[in-house]
Amino acid sequence: MPEKTTNWIIVTGGVISTLGKGVVAGSIGSLLKMRGYKVTAVKIDPYINIDAGTMRPTEHGEVFVTYDGGETDQDIGNYERFLDENIPREHNITTGQVYQEVIRKERNLEYDGKCVEVIPHIPLEVQRRLKKAASNTKADFVIVEIGGTIGDYQNVLFLEAVRTMRLEGEPMIFAHVTYLPIPRTAGEMKSKPAQHSLRALNANGIQADFVIARSDEPIDDVRKEKISVFGNVKKDHVISCQDLESIYDVPLLLQEQRLDELVVKAFGKKPAPLKEKFSAWKELAAKSRNNGKEIKIGVIGKYFNSGDFTLEDSYISVIEAIKHASYYNDAKPIIQWLNSLEYEENPEKLKELKEYDALIIPGGFGKTGVEGKISTIKYARENKIPFLGLCYGLQLAVIEHARNVIGIKSANSSEINKSSEDLVVDVLPEQKKNLEAKNYGASMRLGNYEAVLKKGTKTNELYGKKKVLEIHRHRYEVNPEYHGKLESKGLVFSGLSPEGKLVEFIERDDHPFFLATQAHPEFTSRPLKPNPLFDGLVKAALKK
Ligand code: GLN
Repeated sequence: MPEKTTNWIIVTGGVISTLGKGVVAGSIGSLLKMRGYKVTAVKIDPYINIDAGTMRPTEHGEVFVTYDGGETDQDIGNYERFLDENIPREHNITTGQVYQEVIRKERNLEYDGKCVEVIPHIPLEVQRRLKKAASNTKADFVIVEIGGTIGDYQNVLFLEAVRTMRLEGEPMIFAHVTYLPIPRTAGEMKSKPAQHSLRALNANGIQADFVIARSDEPIDDVRKEKISVFGNVKKDHVISCQDLESIYDVPLLLQEQRLDELVVKAFGKKPAPLKEKFSAWKELAAKSRNNGKEIKIGVIGKYFNSGDFTLEDSYISVIEAIKHASYYNDAKPIIQWLNSLEYEENPEKLKELKEYDALIIPGGFGKTGVEGKISTIKYARENKIPFLGLCYGLQLAVIEHARNVIGIKSANSSEINKSSEDLVVDVLPEQKKNLEAKNYGASMRLGNYEAVLKKGTKTNELYGKKKVLEIHRHRYEVNPEYHGKLESKGLVFSGLSPEGKLVEFIERDDHPFFLATQAHPEFTSRPLKPNPLFDGLVKAALKK
């Protein structure tokens, strides 16, 4: 039997960053998958960090954690949501990983005494990783998104890797996502920067097969013609991708212009027909535009500020999970960012929380803003506002309960105050060594872990099963020494790790909806399959 061939779709970006390349890559993938092909995606990040785990969320956006414990770029989350596929950690390649492996091999004499050089050894290692990703997933189409912008120094070696793969006969097409500005003074859309980015791509030996033109407005015929002629791309391969109200509309916009069909044809194949799932997606996209009943959801965090910008990217999976559950329940979520520090400076502000139909405390690290978060949890508990705590959110809810309900006044987490007398949240035993050795990279409790749910609890009802897998990323846990004291006066441990040692889920039996998890359920939410906890929260918000 001949080996299955991989068809490679390489996605590059031009002119500016933050064009939504990940959404475009995911959308192309979702359309191909809806035609019945097996699709996966790979993100290349041209930074020296081995993974995204050591980067501040305000610097680089959310750290998306994969089921197999990778701390990856937030685009992996985009792929999972658009493709409805679990993406393995190896599908996020960074410059750091590539160099680390080449240097490891060199030290182990694996290059047989040769002089090891940037060219060819770095691109060869990139190719090895790409081919491994393809063979492990046996996908018909592998979408590879090269991070950064064409013209950057950092991504040249990755371009070189894919260029030479194509030269060696790998079936491969290039889709260039670029930008057409509409300068206010000119009042018209300009295609010159896009033309230049296509030329810059040419200078790397790469000719784009498709151009995905991002702009505020649809690209008209005149600009399409220009890009086609000056960029050397067929005119019907110039695809308009203007700003839309909802990212879930992007696949539909691309499909209207037959991008998926044209891509399959570009590989010399006859496109398989679109399947039923496409109509489900259409319905979802319509819901994402439509106005169901409004629910106001407050997300209390601290990773919002980057200069003058509010970086919603820090919590992108949480936002998307709220949206999925809302669309599913015909609700329109109004998401508000609440800065926990403000409740510390001005406790009067807590009263404003009354307006919210639900509150979420997402994951977080360190002591900044923690007391503010704890006081919002107290407010939610006392005023019966639906509440969902994610990871740190669970730990802080336990501290709030210990202090204000049980009366353990000095209750704290060793992450916040090591010398507190009552560390109701403490570092996991196996994590102590990591912290002492300053071993911070990829060393948390990461990826999928199982929990066993207590029968008859809300958590159990929402999941509809006894055993659940959710993705984790933490170093601290509810201290087992306090389990007995804590599980009283309204607090229920609704899910524990299989051996019964770690608290995985909590809920209150004196509240309409108060639930928290040590895991990150936002990572498993999919547009057409909301995560049960978010579904529960939205239903409770609608009732409020
Ligand atoms: N900082 C906490 C811990 O490490 C929570 C982590 C998180 O919210 N992801 O356990």
